[in-house]
Amino acid sequence: RRRAAIDGWAGPGVTADGKAVQLLANVADGAAARAAAVGPVEGVGLYRTELGFLNSLTEPTIDHQADTYAEVLDAFPGRKVVVRTLDAGTDKPVPFASLADEPNPALGIRGQRLAITRPGLIRRQLDAIAMAAMGRDPRPWVMAPMISTVDEAARFAEECRARDLFAGVMVEVPAVALLAEEFLKVVDFVSIGTNDLTQYVMAADRLAPDLAHLTTPWQPGLLRLVKMTADAGLKLGKPVGVCGEAAADPAMACVLVGMGITSLSMAAAAVPAVGVQLSKITTERCRRAAEAALTAATATDARSAAVAEL
Ligand code: PEP
Ligand code: MG
Repeated sequence: RRRAAIDGWAGPGVTADGKAVQLLANVADGAAARAAAVGPVEGVGLYRTELGFLNSLTEPTIDHQADTYAEVLDAFPGRKVVVRTLDAGTDKPVPFASLADEPNPALGIRGQRLAITRPGLIRRQLDAIAMAAMGRDPRPWVMAPMISTVDEAARFAEECRARDLFAGVMVEVPAVALLAEEFLKVVDFVSIGTNDLTQYVMAADRLAPDLAHLTTPWQPGLLRLVKMTADAGLKLGKPVGVCGEAAADPAMACVLVGMGITSLSMAAAAVPAVGVQLSKITTERCRRAAEAALTAATATDARSAAVAEL
């Protein structure tokens, strides 16, 4: 199908020496997915399903959920779509999830932890995703947010595979990056959510403007966790994507590619600038930029060292 060219670049994502890097969109619903599909976007790397239900007082039926999810799948026929299961929490209240008030929501019952208090909710959501996938090609990729242990990942993967869905988890909790190989043994793919991974590794609220110097993805501590995850993916031959805001920064995108990240998902509007940047640079230069950033001691130095290689 036809896609609009921007700056003479119409996708797909590829470096100057021909290495493919999938450039995907983060979307909230069918309308956003259809809007994204007009541009040079190769699929959806993060469908935040909870955003469609922030006003739902009662749990939508499986049929209703399936119709909702199918809208996003239908915006990208034949393309990769990564559906994230509900990332509800008291900071992102999905009314029907009946979340108890928590003193520290970022560290409480959030995302996959909902399986502790409301196990049926996630199972019914997986049923609905599987129903939406019926008769559609390819199978959707499904991933769980806020995973902390290999046991959680293995249980989630089992639920997905019982429904013929690709199973993945988000890397948002530092422990997952530290144990990336063990996680990748039990799932088909992982996707790094740099927004939360940065928040948790720096112990700094991602929404606090005064802490922005701590929550920049150029923090060397974050970069090392990303590298560990990418290395595990390369070793096991499984895809490791990035779907946090970091992927939208063209210089950071080069660094991520240089570490071996295989797909980048971001706001659709950010894709052309990243695509143009990657098309102008070789993987070897990306690798050198990554190495420079990884050996820096501060976020400021990491960024300037990487940019000097680009
Ligand atoms: C992230 O944490 O980086 C992410 C992509 O998920 P969200 O922003 O929805 O928490
Ligand atoms: Mg997150």
